[in-house]
Amino acid sequence: MTTRRIEVNAVSGPLPQTEAEPVQALKGIGVSGGVAIGQAVVIERLTLEMYPQRIIAPDEIPSEIARFESAVHEAAKQLAQVKKLIHAGHPLEEHAYILDTHMLLLEDKMFFNGTKSAIASERQNAEWALSEIIGRITSAFDTIEDEYLRERARDIRFVGERVLGILMGRSETGKIHQLPPNSVIVSHDLSPADTAQIQWGNVLAFAIDMGGQTSHTAIMARSLKVAAVTGLENISSKVQTGDTIIVDGSTGVVVINPDPDTIFRFRQRQEVYRNYHQSLMAFGQLPAVTIDGACSVSILANVELMDEIEIARQHGAEGIGLFRTEYLYLGRRELPSEEEQFESYRRALEANAPNPVTIRTLDVGADKMLTNLSIGHQTNPAMGLRAIRLCLEQRDIFKTQLRAILRASVYGRCLLLIPMISSLTELQATREILAEVKDDLTRSGIEFDPKMPLGILVEVPSAVAIADLLAREADFFSIGTNDLIQYSLAIDRVNEHVNYLYDTLHPALLRLIHQVVEVGTAAGIRVSMCGEMAGDPVNIPILLGLGLTELSMNALSIPMVKKLIRSMSMEECRELTARAFDMTAAHEIRGMLEDWLRDRFPQDYFVPQS
Ligand code: PEP
Ligand code: MG
Repeated sequence: MTTRRIEVNAVSGPLPQTEAEPVQALKGIGVSGGVAIGQAVVIERLTLEMYPQRIIAPDEIPSEIARFESAVHEAAKQLAQVKKLIHAGHPLEEHAYILDTHMLLLEDKMFFNGTKSAIASERQNAEWALSEIIGRITSAFDTIEDEYLRERARDIRFVGERVLGILMGRSETGKIHQLPPNSVIVSHDLSPADTAQIQWGNVLAFAIDMGGQTSHTAIMARSLKVAAVTGLENISSKVQTGDTIIVDGSTGVVVINPDPDTIFRFRQRQEVYRNYHQSLMAFGQLPAVTIDGACSVSILANVELMDEIEIARQHGAEGIGLFRTEYLYLGRRELPSEEEQFESYRRALEANAPNPVTIRTLDVGADKMLTNLSIGHQTNPAMGLRAIRLCLEQRDIFKTQLRAILRASVYGRCLLLIPMISSLTELQATREILAEVKDDLTRSGIEFDPKMPLGILVEVPSAVAIADLLAREADFFSIGTNDLIQYSLAIDRVNEHVNYLYDTLHPALLRLIHQVVEVGTAAGIRVSMCGEMAGDPVNIPILLGLGLTELSMNALSIPMVKKLIRSMSMEECRELTARAFDMTAAHEIRGMLEDWLRDRFPQDYFVPQS
């Protein structure tokens, strides 16, 4: 993501237009909606790059190691104090586990022993040795495909920076304790410990250099309903404490020292956003039935973290269509036990009953497994030993997860989803393992739902090609467009150089989806979609036109998608789909759909306003 200067008048969305001079602004990633206008408070962090570097004398080694150990001890004490601030009922109560993760990282072998041995063998001073070790650990995360997992490298940096600050005798973020009202926090990055100390009542928004949709700042801002823009790259060096600043979390626009006219226009936008959001929220609780009553669509949510389950419910999710279980395995040295997994799955099922929860089995590759699995380096992890391939090889891990899911299945409506199936053999092998686990449970007299449906993520082109064969063994299909685009269009989904090719409306993808729906319907099995494509309004007419009746998406998109579905007829959807199938290029199809949405819903914000 590159930060670019944009003109505020070119901001998309229902921004009132005037003849005024355009004001310069920055564009980042809008991660938590809403418009805030307030005073900047710049939080300067000590970063790992700002350390003194010197070769120590051999006789200094023991005292340098002792200095490092006592800084780690002090960091643990500070984190424990911050954790105490998060009492029951604190807005961040649900996030307190992050501080536990940070405390655990302080004890991490590579972090703690690695730094000490660098001091001893390289004769580096403690700050230098620590920075090198952190650099080494975090660079191992750079190639990780999953954004959520990549963000966890930042936890290691936060912990390292805290220890570094102590070693250098510098206080970290003093200003966070004394924020004036209407503060907009501007920072290079914020650690969860920083956010835990913030006086939330005085904070209107965040504007952050680093991070993406799944950074902790983004997650917390969303749970606290505070506007936030991340990925601004260098805003912390452009803004001074006390500057007036506008943060538009829905478009990712930040304006520094706006003129009165810009402030006026954003106040109007704030009003529009508030009203629009409020009116949308009501749609979340309504059924997604087309205006002609011809089609009823189930709208479910994709979740990764347990606290997203409540957000999903508030936004009107009719269950969980994709529970990405990877997070349970992260930020820790041990694999999660069967008991711990069981508890998480049970909670998710109970919270949603009688609505369904589709639990996807572990979808990680070798490089995503942190310290608890060692499979060796893979040159092309996206096409390597990941997801079901890894589970079929590491059977014990897979069986533990299946046992936990099966045991939890009696607490609600549980569905099992297998990622990255590319052959019938893999599905049959999965069924065999599942049968073994069921036999074990039966022998031990442990209850489970014997009819728990077993579905597959259709996200590899070979699965589309043999969908008729897979439909014989699968109880349902869930189309995972994020990977299906990657594999069918040959576009690495995390490579910014080919990002311009990544388009959900590529004619090839539409044909693949059409094929899966046709085959699934003919075989009498349910077909849903859980890729990001399902939550973008521009795709909705085509998805309905292709016959999909179950969509699972990011919870925040649900009210908007429901409103759109309730305002369209199936005749319109079919006509738009037929037109799209006559077109030859993604941009043509996108243009046609965007024009249609703007014409048909001039008051709405389904697509960027031209
Ligand atoms: C997908 O590939 O579309 C999907 C839903 O899974 P993930 O994004 O987790 O790979
Ligand atoms: Mg996938």
